Amino acid sequence: MSGKILIVDAVATNRIVLKVKLSAAHFDVHQASSGGAAVTLARDLHPDLVILGAAPCDMTCADLIAALRARPDLAVVPIVALLSEDTSAARVEALGAGADDIITQPIDERIMLARLRSLLRQHLALQDMRLNAGTDRAAGFGEAQAIPLRPGRITILGVQMAEAMALRTRLRSACGHQITALLAGGPITTAPGAPGADVFVLMLPAMAEERALELMAELRASPEARHGRIMCLLPCEGRNLAASLLDMGASDVIVGPAELSELTLRLGRQIQRKQSVDHLRTRLHDGLRAAMIDPLTGLYNRRFAMPFLKGLAMGQNDTTGGFAVMLADLDHFKQINDQLGHAAGDRVLCHVADLLGNGVREVDLVARIGGEEFLIVMPGADGAEARRAADELCRRIGEAGIALRGRPEPTHVTVSIGVAMGQAQPTERRASEHVETLLDEADRALYRAKARGRNTVTLSARPAA
Ligand code: GH3
Ligand code: MG
Ligand code: MG
Repeated sequence: MSGKILIVDAVATNRIVLKVKLSAAHFDVHQASSGGAAVTLARDLHPDLVILGAAPCDMTCADLIAALRARPDLAVVPIVALLSEDTSAARVEALGAGADDIITQPIDERIMLARLRSLLRQHLALQDMRLNAGTDRAAGFGEAQAIPLRPGRITILGVQMAEAMALRTRLRSACGHQITALLAGGPITTAPGAPGADVFVLMLPAMAEERALELMAELRASPEARHGRIMCLLPCEGRNLAASLLDMGASDVIVGPAELSELTLRLGRQIQRKQSVDHLRTRLHDGLRAAMIDPLTGLYNRRFAMPFLKGLAMGQNDTTGGFAVMLADLDHFKQINDQLGHAAGDRVLCHVADLLGNGVREVDLVARIGGEEFLIVMPGADGAEARRAADELCRRIGEAGIALRGRPEPTHVTVSIGVAMGQAQPTERRASEHVETLLDEADRALYRAKARGRNTVTLSARPAA
């Protein structure tokens, strides 16, 4: 796996030994011998992961982590502490200082590489999401820091229910997260509509390796755990499984009995990272939605509709190649605004949008492409079907009374619709031209419908070539 790793250690031999191991695993390794040098180098390097050596340097571990994290581009970079002695106190100190994970001397190479891969995988996924969500590195920092750590949701999965319950009781005494205990391998139940767990703690006591890996695979594949983090708890004799579990998608694996303080620190870290990703996902989703949805009516907008139409003109989505394009425009809509006000006008637009959206087939597209102008596209429809559908929409809208606040009587509006028939084209250029022609023809047909007295449908006189 590639990735830029920065090793910070005052002792040259430590750095070299680590560098050899990491380079052999195809990481791009850089080194710094002091905290000051590390901060300077990190600024230009933008490492994907930092390993802080155990040897003392010019800063404490906590100060160096704080100095790195203070840089916007490093605010969320995974930092791993390499401890010379594997004591609970040293682990808690490093995690408390902000390290994401720990490796200990003597280094178990298999576990170390699996941990680094897991951290890098998560980090690179987060970076991708930040880019897609339009969050640049600097803005992302403020955001990552600003996200409040709401109480997390933890689901403990135990092979024995009693073990899961016991861990729940222990954790409850130490943190304010919501904790559920369930049987591993059974259904993962959540209240309908309730969000899934942030972290699943999979307790794997001494058991057949195959069964343990199976439980992990099942959990990773379950829809409930799709966005959740997985932390595995292994007994000392299960150490062999750690690397496989990490490579299967565990975000963290704890081997041996973990002290409560270490467990809560590690869980807190996972929850925080999961919530940052959730936040970005929501932002990405909202951004995508805003890019294609008209905020007033909830219909698609022009930006979404045009590529859809072009796709049809290029022969995508449909076997017959034929499709209908309609332009529907509200009649005398200006009067509605003038007489009832703009807000009432907006409500009328929404009402008509609903009638249009509900009046077409699942495969059809309805978009608001102008103030009071809508585009309807019907893949696979022939002229007769399009005519029928347009007549029906026209009739339904004309007959529907719209209740408006302050008006005792329902308000009635009508639409005029112009229809043009399209056909798949052999080339992309021809498809683009065809879309232009179709919209022009539908517009002319609409104009004729208006001229004929409105509240009517007109088909384009010349079928589009
Ligand atoms: P015609 O039957 O010829 O289409 O007449 P019309 O009055 O509907 O057409 P015209 O183009 O003269 O007026 C369209 C009106 O639509 C003018 C504009 O104020 C109104 N309009 C456009 N967008 C919105 C909107 O988002 N909300 C509201 N309330 N009105 C809008
Ligand atoms: Mg109009
Ligand atoms: Mg108009």
